[in-house]
Amino acid sequence: MNVIIYCRVSSDEQTLGASLDVQEERLRKHCNQMGYNIIDNIPYREDESAKTFEKRPVIQGIMNYIRKNKGRVNKLLFLRWDRYSRDIISASENLKELLKLGVEPNAIEAPLDFNSDTWPLLLGVHIGSAQCDNIKRSKATMDGIHGTLAKGKCANKAPRGYKNVRISKHETHVEIDTNTAPFIQAMFKEVAKGIETPCYIRRKFARKGYNIPESSFLEMLRNKFYIGKIRVPAYKGEPEYYVNGEHEAIIDEETFYKVQEILDGKRKKTPKLSKAINPDLFLRKFLICPVCGYALTGATSSGNGGKYTYYFCCNNQKHIRMRAENVNEEFARYTAQLKPNKTVLDLYNEILKDLQNERKGESKKEAAALQNELSTVQKRINSIEDKYLDGDLTKEQYNRMLERYTKEASAMQQQIEMRENPNRSNIEPKLNYSINLINNIDSYIRNASVGVKIKLISSMFPEKIEFDGKTYRTNSYNKVLDLIYQQTNELRGVEKKNGESFSTFSASVPRPGVEPGWK
Ligand SMILES: [Zn+2]
Repeated sequence: MNVIIYCRVSSDEQTLGASLDVQEERLRKHCNQMGYNIIDNIPYREDESAKTFEKRPVIQGIMNYIRKNKGRVNKLLFLRWDRYSRDIISASENLKELLKLGVEPNAIEAPLDFNSDTWPLLLGVHIGSAQCDNIKRSKATMDGIHGTLAKGKCANKAPRGYKNVRISKHETHVEIDTNTAPFIQAMFKEVAKGIETPCYIRRKFARKGYNIPESSFLEMLRNKFYIGKIRVPAYKGEPEYYVNGEHEAIIDEETFYKVQEILDGKRKKTPKLSKAINPDLFLRKFLICPVCGYALTGATSSGNGGKYTYYFCCNNQKHIRMRAENVNEEFARYTAQLKPNKTVLDLYNEILKDLQNERKGESKKEAAALQNELSTVQKRINSIEDKYLDGDLTKEQYNRMLERYTKEASAMQQQIEMRENPNRSNIEPKLNYSINLINNIDSYIRNASVGVKIKLISSMFPEKIEFDGKTYRTNSYNKVLDLIYQQTNELRGVEKKNGESFSTFSASVPRPGVEPGWK
């Protein structure tokens, strides 16, 4: 009788006293007593405790040996059934193959008689009870993790920008990693600006030496951990929810939700750029002909031993044709003159704060309305649950509807949080950013990438700009900028044009044909 013995490590071998050595010793002793011949020129000690047979290399080797040497092996012996398998489905597949190959698998501690009528029942009991243990154990682990999360503790490895710090033998907590957190903060800020795409921003940081793989980067931008929340996943029929974590936020909620809107594609985008734009003709989209009002276009032509780029009227080149270099530079100078002075910016600051207070009241109302909608959605979720339980919906339909409603609900939740969050009133950083932008507007117009230039210009000038070679005219600036510019000029004491009045705030709505008074 030729047998192969099989030993396998177990995660709880300490308690059960069944180390590989013990298993092998017992098996050899048994074979000796029975007079079996052990085939031991193949590996038989499994270091892998994997559930499925495919992931255990040693058993795979044994199976291959048996397949190649049909008829030479009579038994496959192991100490206990749980060393063979703790999973009834994979065990029955393997067992079926072994029996077909004429090999009898058996445990020497509880051998089955494959000639009896009861062996399937007993096999089920042996392997099934091992599997039950496994399920219980993993449930206990799940309960533990769920409990930890629900308390606002981070249950696994802290995300980028944080680190796990051991505070005692059994306890760790999460701290901000001062080496990486500034990168994460800078990335969120860049994305929130909405000027460059997240992917572009990721590559920019990668070039600076902080590389995050693309998929993890997008995941990171979605992770509420950064605003101090912990996600408690759906468990035992309870839907997923968020709790305030014990860790400190490194991203403020306003930035975070702005990033979400950008990722969701909800933020208003500037018109899609058609193909590549000639960087020397970045004003093409914005300029119109002072004679006929048609859009200006442009082209590069060779002549006089060099290449020159021109803007010209797309209707008739005789109307206007100008060297692009000059037009662009003139435009940069024009925007430079729009820079406000400090007094105006202080004023701007005050006005924005006023507006903010007004908005707070509105936000409250909006939040209440959203709360109402949210409870409607929640009612719907309950009702489809009932329908599903009553058999009026198939599982597929139910899942599909549940997914849709859950998404809706979480989007509303987000909106509500945004409106209720007091941090939202903190406009300082935003203000500083825009002031910095305004103060350096001409250098952006001269040096930024063509995409950024276009984005900036379209946010400043919602309507077309007329340029006759000397003067720029437009029907409307962005309202806020309009206000600032007018106030600036007033404070600068610039001469006013006839009949033009730069006076009160209420007069700050765009008026047709406004031409900067300092021209
Ligand atoms: Zn024209």
